[in-house]
Amino acid sequence: MSDIHALIGGMYDDVVRRNPGETEFHQAVREVVESLVPVLERHPEHLDPNAFERICEPERQIIFRVPWQDDEGRWRLNRGFRVEFNSALGPFKGGLRFHPSVYLGIVKFLGFEQVFKNALTGMPLGGGKGGSDFDPKGRSPDEVMRFCQSFMTELYRHIGEYTDVPAGDIGVGGREIGYLFGQYKRITNRHESGVLTGKGLGWGGAVVRTEATGYGAAYFTEEMLLSRGRSMGGQTAVVSGSGNVAIYAIQKLTQMGATVVACSDSDGYVVDERGIDLELVREIKESGRGRISEYADRVSHAHHVSGGSVWDVACTVAIPSATENELDGRAATTLVRNGCIAVAEGANMPSTRDAVKVFTEAGTAFGPGKAANAGGVATSALEMQQNAARDSWTFDRTERRLHEIMRDIHASCFEAAQEYGEPGNLVLGANAVGFLRVADAMNAQGLV
Ligand code: GLU
Repeated sequence: MSDIHALIGGMYDDVVRRNPGETEFHQAVREVVESLVPVLERHPEHLDPNAFERICEPERQIIFRVPWQDDEGRWRLNRGFRVEFNSALGPFKGGLRFHPSVYLGIVKFLGFEQVFKNALTGMPLGGGKGGSDFDPKGRSPDEVMRFCQSFMTELYRHIGEYTDVPAGDIGVGGREIGYLFGQYKRITNRHESGVLTGKGLGWGGAVVRTEATGYGAAYFTEEMLLSRGRSMGGQTAVVSGSGNVAIYAIQKLTQMGATVVACSDSDGYVVDERGIDLELVREIKESGRGRISEYADRVSHAHHVSGGSVWDVACTVAIPSATENELDGRAATTLVRNGCIAVAEGANMPSTRDAVKVFTEAGTAFGPGKAANAGGVATSALEMQQNAARDSWTFDRTERRLHEIMRDIHASCFEAAQEYGEPGNLVLGANAVGFLRVADAMNAQGLV
């Protein structure tokens, strides 16, 4: 027992030493490695050769220059990244994030999470992530197009339907995927649908892909509630963020009978006790760069709080869907005190380590992002499947498949938590299942 503890501590220290300053990556690794003690005790075959140590080292890391011209004719410079983390289960797969906070450590944390998340879907997907420190805020559509074209002018040589399949993430939606795909097609002279996911519905995109992450998080939350003898009807929910994940989580939670009373953006949050009017949020957020404060200007019984924490709003279900580390130990304590019974991460690693500890100790159901938000990438796999088959599915069929995948993910995490001695601990369950699927495949493929 103590040997494995010492080994695990050593593995984490090695990751920190090898990747100095990449705090988000360290945090993501630490959360997984801490779960692995009971797993490695039962699976010594993954100690020598040490599978986890190899999983922590990306197969390939690409950093490149992205020059582009703004509308005033000035040259601008950004940095592009693609971290091809692990291809044991399938081609590298994961989104691109365009946000000023992006640096290698963020891309590596996201890529590392993606390896486990993609394994949990049960689909043949490896893990990767990419992006740029480009800030799309305030940029014209032409500037965004020129940036995407320049980004793809380097990225194209590293990707392909059997190699690496990017998609969207923060700052990269359908419009950007369109510009990226167009440039890939021009350079390669291939209409290779399966090279990117999140495409437009008229040219190889799949229905439900836009809704999938939010819908999937709602389905996952429902599974957590059902496993505890509860249901979604009558729950009061808070969903942070107001982007793609938040919008469709709100829609599905509402369809399931919950009342979503608050959502947020980087300026603050809005509370509407009668239930957030989703059409209004969409109108504000999807058409241009509207702020959520507008909601309270237009709905007399709603109010807006500038700054502050959306987690101060009392709820029984919480879906953090904004960004990493948005929910800290203090916020978690407030949520628990206010009667929150289930938290599912719509974003990647939105809860700090302290917050997860508070939820675990309080017995609050907690679904880590790599399980709860896997519906997005799972539906990307369905898009790839349709592209390969030159087919397109109906909304109903695709949504049914997504629902089934989310149920399966919950069931496998739930069962693994029980098997490794901590019933209900879905962090342990998700890490155990993801790790074993990847490690077993790596072992079977020789020293890779
Ligand atoms: N960026 C999304 C995620 O974090 C989706 C990735 C994809 O569809 O490849 O899972």
